Amino acid sequence: MTNLVLFGPPGAGKGTQAEVLKEKYNLVHISTGDVFRFNIKNATELGSLAKSYIDKGQLVPDEVTINMLSAEVDKNPDANGFIFDGFPRTEAQAEVLEVLLKDKETEISAMVALEVDDEVLVQRLLNRGKTSGRADDADEEVIRNRIKVYYNETAILKEYYQKQNKYHGVDGVGSVGDITDRLSAAIDSL
Ligand code: ADP
Repeated sequence: MTNLVLFGPPGAGKGTQAEVLKEKYNLVHISTGDVFRFNIKNATELGSLAKSYIDKGQLVPDEVTINMLSAEVDKNPDANGFIFDGFPRTEAQAEVLEVLLKDKETEISAMVALEVDDEVLVQRLLNRGKTSGRADDADEEVIRNRIKVYYNETAILKEYYQKQNKYHGVDGVGSVGDITDRLSAAIDSL
């Protein structure tokens, strides 16, 4: 199995690249943000809980996110591998993911990370906010809070995977195709 953590700050382009990579490598793409938004749209209990955090640019509590992620993995017993997009975002989530995959006799193959400067991120997210309908993209304060949360809680995961020799960073600025090529080079080297 090939299990990838697609990593990078908000607005780095994870969703765009995941769509390409899942076809190319025949992997199941799980985006925690997409699952939360699906639940918000369908007014589920999980959706209303998640919305209260997401609208402020905060993380949804670990327990809630972990249960949701675990259920998504279990929906795909025949997967050839997974692209985890937006997960893990905390060290606790990374530790649980390790156990969860070990139970399935597999592991994370690599973290592939998109590296993009903060000011580029803010501009991209504000632009996306004009059409995405996402409340968390419409407000510069919320965007800056998401980036702050990324540095405070999520960025340490780079070290977590570096220690396991699994971190592969690529430049996230350029054309979609060029960035796919950079990520593919990292994945093909595994
Ligand atoms: P972005 O576009 O900022 O990368 P996502 O679409 O992945 O964001 O997620 C949107 C929001 O959903 C996040 O800002 C956060 O509130 C919540 N969320 C997504 N994944 C997680 C996670 N693993 N842990 C906690 N909260 C999460």
